[in-house]
Amino acid sequence: MPRIVRFAGETGPRYGMVDGGEVAVLEPHPFGPHGPTGETVPLEGLQLLAPVIPSKIVCVGRNYVDHAAELGNEVPAEPLLFTKPATSVIGPGQRILYPADLSDEVHHEAELAVVIGAILSRVSPAEARRGIYGFTAANDVTARDLQRSDGQWTRAKGFDTFCPLGPAIATDIDPHDVGVRCLVNGDLRQDGTTRDLVFDVPTLVSYISQAMTLLPTDVVLTGTPAGVGPLVPGDTVRVEIDGIGALENTVVERSRTVDPATN
Ligand code: ZN
Repeated sequence: MPRIVRFAGETGPRYGMVDGGEVAVLEPHPFGPHGPTGETVPLEGLQLLAPVIPSKIVCVGRNYVDHAAELGNEVPAEPLLFTKPATSVIGPGQRILYPADLSDEVHHEAELAVVIGAILSRVSPAEARRGIYGFTAANDVTARDLQRSDGQWTRAKGFDTFCPLGPAIATDIDPHDVGVRCLVNGDLRQDGTTRDLVFDVPTLVSYISQAMTLLPTDVVLTGTPAGVGPLVPGDTVRVEIDGIGALENTVVERSRTVDPATN
């Protein structure tokens, strides 16, 4: 099952394909013409990075019936879209910075993320399916109190570090039959399956593309199953998706002295 990772090389980020305990380096990147360099590096000890830096992240709210119900909402008749800025992305092992000066209710949301591999504008679901590069895991970290009080979701969903992505892009999983789990300090909080998605992946990608062009590297978050709940500084949060792997991050309270660029 092909899995693509992005990792810190000596001179900057590099891409490679996981092959057992090795990573076969490819250049320049998988979102255009590329090929193997012939070089391999051991997977163990590599610093994995977010597998993409998207131009935009488009998210879908209330796309699992049980999650909509737990927050007292109906499932919408059409996909409910919002976005997160590219600056919210962090990779495996990076720290989620808890904005305690503005929020005291930050939640985890484990989600299957779609990585777009083509320019998609006003495409059909069938065309959308062909334009998908692969799938990764995401944590749609959300300041739930600000989501309620702001009346719309940009700030609550958009803090720096509120979009962990990774650890790999799986290119041939069935996106409609994988388990999506979230563990906090080892305790299982969310245990869902994408079999329960309200709107399936090609439908979502097609729907989004009727409004905005999706570009290679763009990411679509497909919604979260039931079990969302609070994170607090000191927690370790782990999103697991079958066939993709585990995305683990720790939570620390941000301070005025923390520079997100060096997180
Ligand atoms: Zn979400």
